[in-house]
Amino acid sequence: MKTNHLKEWENELNICIRCAYCFEGCPVFKELGWEPDGARGKAVLAYGLLTGELEPSEYIAEKLFQCSFCRDCIERCSANVEIPDILAAARADLFEAGYVKDSQKRLLDTIEKSGNIFDKELEAPNYKGEKQVLLGCRLLERKDDSKKYLDLLEKLGVKTKTFNESCCGMPFAVLGDKKGFKAQQDKFRYTIPDRKEEVICVCTTCVFFIRKKYPDLKAKYIIDEIVERLPQYKDKIKKLGIKVTYHDPCNVARGMDMVDEPRMLLREIGAELIEMPTNGKQAECCGGGGGLLVSDDKLAEKLAENRVEQAIETGAEILTTLCPTCEFNLKNAAEKYNGKIEIVNLLDLIYEALN
Ligand code: SF4
Ligand code: SF4
Repeated sequence: MKTNHLKEWENELNICIRCAYCFEGCPVFKELGWEPDGARGKAVLAYGLLTGELEPSEYIAEKLFQCSFCRDCIERCSANVEIPDILAAARADLFEAGYVKDSQKRLLDTIEKSGNIFDKELEAPNYKGEKQVLLGCRLLERKDDSKKYLDLLEKLGVKTKTFNESCCGMPFAVLGDKKGFKAQQDKFRYTIPDRKEEVICVCTTCVFFIRKKYPDLKAKYIIDEIVERLPQYKDKIKKLGIKVTYHDPCNVARGMDMVDEPRMLLREIGAELIEMPTNGKQAECCGGGGGLLVSDDKLAEKLAENRVEQAIETGAEILTTLCPTCEFNLKNAAEKYNGKIEIVNLLDLIYEALN
C-alpha cells in the first residue's frame, strides 16, 4: 500500500516513545480494552503500515477508524503527539487503497450530492443583517433551533446575516477522502458571502475545523460573542434555578481551550452545576466525533451511554453541552434511561434565561 499521507507524519511517529501515558483517558480503550484500541496501539499500527512491516487489512482499518478524535491522548502525551492527525493520514492511505465501508461512502456521497450530511435541501432561516453567521449542517436541519440561536444573537445586539451554506468538509477529512475534501473545501469557501470578514459559527465542530483547515477564513465561536455581549444585558437575565451537569465537547475544551466560559455562563443564568468526575480538559468523550458515528455506530452509541450514565450519577436534571453532534449522540443514548436526564444545548438555556 502506498503511504504518501502517513509519510508526512513520520517524524511525529518517531517522536512517540510508546510510553502509553495516553491510555488512561482514551474512551475507546476504556470500552474495548485491547492494545490496538488505545492511542499507542494505533500509533504502532500506523508505524507498521508506514515501514511496510504490516500489510493493510480489514482489521487494521477497523482499528484505525475506531477513534473519535477526542484529543484526550494529546492532552496526556508529554510530547504532544498528534494521534488524531496521524490517524487521519493513515485513513487517507487506507481510503486510497480501497478500505472504505459502505456506511462511510454513503455519508460522503450524500454530502457531495446535497452539500450537507442529511441528503435533503436545507435552508438557513433568512436573516439579512451585517454579521455573517454559519449554522452548520446539524443545526440547519433543526430549523426552529437555528432560528432560536440567531434570535439569541439578535437579542444580544448582533445583526445577523445567513447564507446558503455547504458542509465545511470535516467528514471527508476525518474519513480519509482527501480528494473529496479538496472539492468540498472549494464549495464551502465560496458559499461564504465575504471571506475577508469574520463568520460567527454556531457549531463547535465547524468553528474548530475552520480554524484548523481554513487559515484564510476568520471563524468566531458563538460563545465568545455571547461572553463579550452578555454583561450589557445582565439585568435582563432570568435565573433559571436548575441543576445541571455540563459535558465539555472535545473540540471546545481540548480543541479550543475553552473550559471556563460555559461554566461562567451557567452561573450567570442561575444554573447549579454539578460536575461529572471527568470534566474540562479531562472530560470523557461522548463518542460522536472522528466519523465514529458512521465507522462504528455501536461503539459511538456505547461511549455515549457511558457518558450519560456518568451524568445521571451526578443527580442533575439536565445534561447540557454545546456541540450539536454531542447533543445528538447523547440524546439517542439517553432514551435508554427512561427520562432520567434531559439533554439540552447550553444555547437553549441561555435563550430561555433571556426571554
Ligand atoms: S502518543 Fe505520547 S503518550 Fe502515547 S505512547 Fe506515544 S509518546 Fe507516549
Ligand atoms: S483521539 Fe481519543 S479516541 Fe482517539 S486514540 Fe486519542 S484518546 Fe483514543
